[in-house]
Amino acid sequence: MSRKRIYLFWDADPNDKGLFGGKGAGLAGMCALGLPVPPGFIITTEVCNEYSATKRLPNGLMEGVAESVKVIEEDTGKTFGRGANPLLFSVRSGAKFSMPGMMDTILNLGLNAETLGTLMKATGNERFALDSYRRFIQIFGNVVLGIKHDTFEAELSGMRDEENVKEDHQLLPQHLTKLIERYRAVVQREAKADIPEDPMEQLRMAMTAVFESWNNPRAVTYRNTYKIPHDLGTAVNVQAMVFGNMGDDSGTGVAFSRNPSTGENRIYGEFLMNAQGEDVVAGIRTPLKIDEMKQRMPAVADELFGYIHKLDSHFKDMQDVEFTVERGKLYVLQTRTGKRTGQAAVRIAVELAREGVIDKPTALLRVEPLALNQILHKQIDRSTNPRKIAEGLNASPGAAIGKIAFTADEAVERAKDGEKIVLVRAETNPDDIHGLISATGVLTARGGMTSHAAVVARGMGKPCVAGCSALVIDEDAKTLSVKGKSYSSSDTITIDGTTGDVFEGACNLIEPSVGDDLREFLSWADEFRRLKVRANADTPSDARKAYEFGAQGIGLCRTEHMFFKPERIPVVQAMILSADRTEREEHLKKLLAMQRDDFVGIFREMKGNPVTIRLLDPPLHEFLPKDDEQIERVVEEFIATKGGGKSEQMKKALKAKIRATEEANPMLGLRGCRLGIVYPEINEMQVEAIISAALNVEAEGMHVKPEIMIPLVGTVAELKHIKPLLVEVAERTMKAAGRRVEYMLGTMIEVPRAALTAGEIALEAEFFSFGTNDLTQMTLGISRDDAEQKFLHFYVEKKIYPVNPFEEIDRAGVGRLIKMAVDEGRAVKPNLKIGICGEHGGDPESVKFCHEAGLDYVSCSPFRVPIARLAAAQAALEGKQSAAVSSST
Ligand code: PEP
Ligand code: MG
Repeated sequence: MSRKRIYLFWDADPNDKGLFGGKGAGLAGMCALGLPVPPGFIITTEVCNEYSATKRLPNGLMEGVAESVKVIEEDTGKTFGRGANPLLFSVRSGAKFSMPGMMDTILNLGLNAETLGTLMKATGNERFALDSYRRFIQIFGNVVLGIKHDTFEAELSGMRDEENVKEDHQLLPQHLTKLIERYRAVVQREAKADIPEDPMEQLRMAMTAVFESWNNPRAVTYRNTYKIPHDLGTAVNVQAMVFGNMGDDSGTGVAFSRNPSTGENRIYGEFLMNAQGEDVVAGIRTPLKIDEMKQRMPAVADELFGYIHKLDSHFKDMQDVEFTVERGKLYVLQTRTGKRTGQAAVRIAVELAREGVIDKPTALLRVEPLALNQILHKQIDRSTNPRKIAEGLNASPGAAIGKIAFTADEAVERAKDGEKIVLVRAETNPDDIHGLISATGVLTARGGMTSHAAVVARGMGKPCVAGCSALVIDEDAKTLSVKGKSYSSSDTITIDGTTGDVFEGACNLIEPSVGDDLREFLSWADEFRRLKVRANADTPSDARKAYEFGAQGIGLCRTEHMFFKPERIPVVQAMILSADRTEREEHLKKLLAMQRDDFVGIFREMKGNPVTIRLLDPPLHEFLPKDDEQIERVVEEFIATKGGGKSEQMKKALKAKIRATEEANPMLGLRGCRLGIVYPEINEMQVEAIISAALNVEAEGMHVKPEIMIPLVGTVAELKHIKPLLVEVAERTMKAAGRRVEYMLGTMIEVPRAALTAGEIALEAEFFSFGTNDLTQMTLGISRDDAEQKFLHFYVEKKIYPVNPFEEIDRAGVGRLIKMAVDEGRAVKPNLKIGICGEHGGDPESVKFCHEAGLDYVSCSPFRVPIARLAAAQAALEGKQSAAVSSST
């Protein structure tokens, strides 16, 4: 390898996060800005990859490390792990993308029998030295030697109990000395070894452990969740230790240059007096608000706030800064781009762009489209006076309802069975990551806004209430007690991460709405995107929501959803059970009036934008019951509408008719356009309802653009068969009204054969809409109704499928069919309008694909419309960027 493997902070390139990791690049940047950073060096991510490949540190690496250590010794005037003024190091991981709490950090490296003694003497603070040493044994034992954290914690809490103190910092030197002996015994017992006395050996083992931690299960899970490539590797940052636990003029903390929850442009953070960094992040003690620092250490607070502002403007983004005060002297330990909620992401991007610090495209590219989900979260309806039982910190916004699970494993198991779970823990740690993923929300008794639970939940966009100190959690007994009342695993609670409130039972939730920042932000997205965004909506109220969220039309109105309304289902059932066409038409007439009213409502809400209405699609058995008792009831009711008194034989025949609608493979059976071919009167009714509704609304003075869509076409012959009848009904309806409306007739492409013969189909269709749910089902040969529950998660886990193909378009298979269909369709009809209305229409990666494939629009559920608007803008902007790169190379 030709490149250097080790860089001093001040020699590293602040812009190369790939090589130095985000943390290393941040440290280099802070050195360049002249901030008081404890000195250190970075071992690059490339070395991690070498290590991962060979499972050993490269030859010569430790010699290089020794040289760098010497430089730091000279800079600090201390000696590593020995001498009268010993130098200790922190060893931290740091990848290109921040993965909070996922990999390991080792503090106080270099402590041994000799340095413990000198540290006591040099600082004159026996307690501090002993406390540092016991922390070191604990971290080294855990991270490097693999001894369970809990084993040490049990000794620590045992000691607290024995000495009758509440907090660790109340333990006196003699207690700590005893504790250290117990810790040593733990190491001997569990690891069958001692922690080496030689500091360079400690450093070698620690670096190896950090490289190993890149592939620990929780880091791998995290990368899978956030789609971070596994081959980036982590850098190792070795930094001179400074101490926040040297007395009451010392402390440590974390500060954000802007509020990570709301985005407000005001420094936000927490600190602990007389403590080390891990105390803040681990959530063991609930920290003080940063503003209190102004009272306790005004000069240091001023200096710190000045640096934080400087970092915010230098990086042109919200920074997450760790600092330590050692006997009144401030050190900035690290800075990185801060994790934030969706709401904060939008507000920060909008404010920075308004101030002219960044341009609109940069602002748009800064916000993860899926993060908008959080803003569009439902809120608790307070008007119903829900019973509030406790209050904690509003760590991650949104409301979550679920039954209580007390461990991560339990949350995973129960969520698999379809239960909605709120994970309730005293505090979470990185080993709980799988539980956090499975839960709908997280509630912790301890820890602050920067505790593990808070940071991870925010990153995942899950509601979280942290530091809710009124909770008494007994994990073994599986009980949660609050103010004398006890709750168990079978109880439901609601948490409100926006306010920090916790409620008993399931609260009523209300729909979210778009605020000013988001509205402005999305209007910028609209300036840059090429793809139009429509919504899938079946009712006037969904259509209104969709329009509010910026939908430019309806891409799919599933008419069967109108059939499922309770007052309509008996009519639909009667229509299916009718003896002949005449009888069927009677019932269809009733349905016509109902559907026409629905369409009128939807057309009005869409205010002149196109509305694609799909003719009936599902197999008929979906409208009929399955069990005997209910079949009996439906038959009785049907007979009653005919005046009753039918013979037993007739009843039998009707029951047989219901049974006959069942199919072995319903998704491949009598559904879609096949229904309209077998029962043309259903199509006739629907087209009449659409055209007459359009005529009515046009009569009110509003322009209407109905698009009639035929589902599940597999051959052009089907279209040719159906079309003349639909045209005839439309013409007849318009003639009767004496007026015309503009309408289009198009088809879904959701059967692979339709995609393969798109050139023929385009000759008969005015538009295409890809039904990628069915297209995925039929292309991959997997039943969407069965796969997700039965094996898809297994396939994704085993990487047989890189992602769930029903969530993100399978580019290589389904995507290829789509591209072929677009090309062939446009070859015969250059202006053929093409969209997508499967679930993928609201998935950012799939939206990107649709942009690249040249579609005209995507259509998704109303709440995903803002996500799709942003994803479409990002796709256009990224496309421009890569075009610019390729033309300049
Ligand atoms: C589809 O198949 O993608 C589609 C939109 O139709 P449905 O999900 O109703 O089958
Ligand atoms: Mg379909």
